Amino acid sequence: MREVTIFEKIIAGELPCNKVLENDDFLAFHDINPKAPIHILIIPKVHVKNFQELKPEVMSGMTAFIQEIASKLGLDKSGYRLITNNGENGGQEIFHLHFHLLGGAKLAWGHFEDADPKGSF
Ligand code: AMP
Repeated sequence: MREVTIFEKIIAGELPCNKVLENDDFLAFHDINPKAPIHILIIPKVHVKNFQELKPEVMSGMTAFIQEIASKLGLDKSGYRLITNNGENGGQEIFHLHFHLLGGAKLAWGHFEDADPKGSF
């Protein structure tokens, strides 16, 4: 049997989060270890392991939800980066699908093993 993830415990109300937006299907909250001035995680309430296992019909609602958050925070105008880490080589640490929404500054590019991540978001 698989281990219940931290994000499922947040959805269940068993762990706290700094909530940004919620509806019946999705939840958005601030990342506990932000990599940019704005760093929000967006998760589906239904359990999905990662993007590779995501059904396109769930992605449809998630797209609208992410766009709503971006607009709410003014990121639709200033710009943002949307990332999902998938599996081991993608650097996924929590195996409940989440999108990272990053913004609030001009973001550097290049998160690769031989690149120095210091000083970049
Ligand atoms: P990933 O490496 O894509 O699986 O990202 C996991 C993200 O979850 C990291 O950016 C963590 O900082 C973040 N994180 C872990 N635990 C929490 C938590 N309790 N509340 C908010 N963010 C968290």
